[in-house]
Formats: sequence, structure tokens, C-alpha cells
Amino acid sequence: MGFSLKCIECHSTESEQAYTCSKCKGLLEVLYDKEAFSSYELAQKPGIWKYSKLFPCGGIAITLHEGNTPLYHINNLFSGMGIHVKFEGLNPTGSFKDRGMAVGMSKAIEFGFKKVVCASTGNTSASMAAYAAKAGVMPFVYVPKGKIALPKLAQALVYGAKIVQTEGTFDDALRKVFGSTKPDTYILNSINPYRPEGQKTLAFELSEQLEESGGVDTVVVPVGNAANISAIWKGFKEYKQLGLVKKLPRMIGVQAAGANPVYKAFLSGKFEPVANPDTIASAIRIGNPVSHVKAIAAAKESKGFITQVSDAELLNALAALAKHEGVFCEPASATTVAAVARMVQNNEIAKDDNVVCVLTGNGLKDPETAAKAATH
Ligand SMILES: *Cc1c(COP(=O)(O)O)cnc(C)c1O
Ligand SMILES: [Zn+2]
Repeated sequence: MGFSLKCIECHSTESEQAYTCSKCKGLLEVLYDKEAFSSYELAQKPGIWKYSKLFPCGGIAITLHEGNTPLYHINNLFSGMGIHVKFEGLNPTGSFKDRGMAVGMSKAIEFGFKKVVCASTGNTSASMAAYAAKAGVMPFVYVPKGKIALPKLAQALVYGAKIVQTEGTFDDALRKVFGSTKPDTYILNSINPYRPEGQKTLAFELSEQLEESGGVDTVVVPVGNAANISAIWKGFKEYKQLGLVKKLPRMIGVQAAGANPVYKAFLSGKFEPVANPDTIASAIRIGNPVSHVKAIAAAKESKGFITQVSDAELLNALAALAKHEGVFCEPASATTVAAVARMVQNNEIAKDDNVVCVLTGNGLKDPETAAKAATH
């Protein structure tokens, strides 16, 4: 298949079913060999599978036709500028998680697993449960009790997941998964090295969608467990290596001010978890993000940065986007538009820059918070 799993810290090669480096506990990433690049071509397949020549998959593709989401020019809110939103809320289960889950589940099946597990603030569990249903395997989901939006829990339940409600935060739920999962069950949290391979396709789609208007200059991504921003960055780097784009965008990560360990680490150079993460944006209410090293590397390498917004700012952005653009996204997703609104106000975005806010989830995922935003 022309790839290997490498540790991002010590660069040693790991076995295909590893989650982290056996030598230094570092995160793993998929690296392709030269042939994978030299023989690259698009495939005649739906959604993300169009790019499957750069996937770590054999013949198996578990798919609900994820990907191929629309890009909207946000010209009512920001007139005369190149500000866009990529609406990932239109994926099969309503979030970008489907891109990575399709690839992760395909690997689980290829490896022969009959059970899969994740801890989740909601969207990962909804997505994993749907793809498990499609693949015919049993999904187990650990969620922090009382801390996930009801529609996401309902999705996981109706797709047939066994739900384990845990005390404490998402971070506690994730610890439980790693502490108690038996070797017969495949872990599909974002630490899984195959999920980013599906998520990177967002970069490929953006490159095509903005090709005729000068390419992508800036990508703004909400940061929770911190995997998506580096997955997208990896996608751009691979497209550049293929010669399909000339320039690389800067990557801007946005955290909620009450759950901001990556933002603080970006400024100080020292990572410290936030013990009691607190924000209305439940999808990014994470105090100890597993992929913080990758996220900070993506921001630095791309000459971008990590910033933060308040709950009031993200609620305003959520409401404004719905009211003026007809796009209804999740609170976590609205952080990106809030950050861009502030940059526009401070004249930090050039008029001809193509900026893309990644709207990671659908507004229907959290109607209660949306109702608050509308009356805010
Ligand atoms: C998972 C999720 C995020 C955070 O993505 P990470 O890869 O964990 O940083 C942001 N928004 C939504 C809607 C999500 O479901
Ligand atoms: Zn290592």
C-alpha cells in the first residue's frame, strides 16, 4: 500500500495497528512512499474516495458518501472580501468527523475487528456509530455524563451504539477508554493515526474549489482535541508535494477562552492542561487535547497562529452567520467566524485574501445553544 506509520517525535516506524509510539509515546502519522506520489491520480468514486490513491487503505471502503461539502462566499457579512465558509455540517452525520471515520472504520474492518470504541464530546460517537452500523460491527461510546448535546447522544443511540456515561469531563472519559479497552476492540479516537488521512481531504477539496480564484491563503479551524487542524495542514503539504498547488496557506486555530490549553501553549511554549474546561461550545470543551503537539506544529510551520474567542463572541458569530448568510453551524464551528470578524475589524485581512472558516458541525446538533444565540 506504499505507506508506513511513523512517530512524529523520534521517527521510528510502528506496526500498523499501533496508536502511539512504543518507544517514546509520541503521536503517529501516515507517511507515503515516493511511488504513492508518483502514481497519484483521482479515482472515479464519491466524496473523499476520489482521493483514495493517497489513503492508507487496501480494498475496503466503508462509506456513507462523506466529503464534497459546499464552500460559500460570505459576502453579506464581509462585503468586498474573500471570506468563505466550508460547511462540514452537511456530511452524513452532520460533522467533519465522517471524513476521518470512513477511513478509520475501513482500517478497523481490514484488521478484522468486530468492536470499535471511542470517547466523545458527541460528534465522534455519532459518526463512529453510523459507520459501525454500515460496516456491521459493534460501537461502544464513552461520553461525559450530562456534558453532551442531546441530539448527538440520540444519533449514537439510534445508530445502535452501547453508551457508557462516565463521571467528570471528556478527558476523564478518554482516559477510561485507554484504561479499559481490550485488544479485541479498535480505538477510533482522534489519536488513531488513520482518521486524519480522511480529514486531510478537506484541503484537497478547498484547493480545487478556490483554484480559479487564486488558491487558499488562510484556513481557520476550531481546535478541540487538536487533530483536525494538523490533518488539514498535512493535506495541503501533500498537494504541494504532488505539484497540485503552488502555495501553502497559513493555518489559524481557534479555541474557546474557557478551554484554551493549545492557545496558551502556543504563546508560552509550554503545554499545561486546563483542569475544568468551560465553554458553551461542547465539541471543543477539552482540557487535555491529545494532539496539541501536532496542532502547534501546523500553526507554526504554516506561519499561522492559535487564538481564542469568548462564548459571547462565538454566539454572536453563530447568529450573524445564520441570519445574514443562511448557514446554521455548531457553536464550536462559529469560533472561526468570530475570530475572522475580529481580524477584519482590526484590518488584519487583506481584501484579496482567500480565507476559509471550517464550519465543522451542523447547527441542528445543538439547538438549545442556538436558541440562546438567537436571543443573545
Ligand atoms: C471534533 C470537533 C471539533 C474539534 O476538532 P479537533 O480535531 O478535536 O480539534 C470542532 N468542531 C466540531 C463540531 C467537532 O465535532
Ligand atoms: Zn517515538
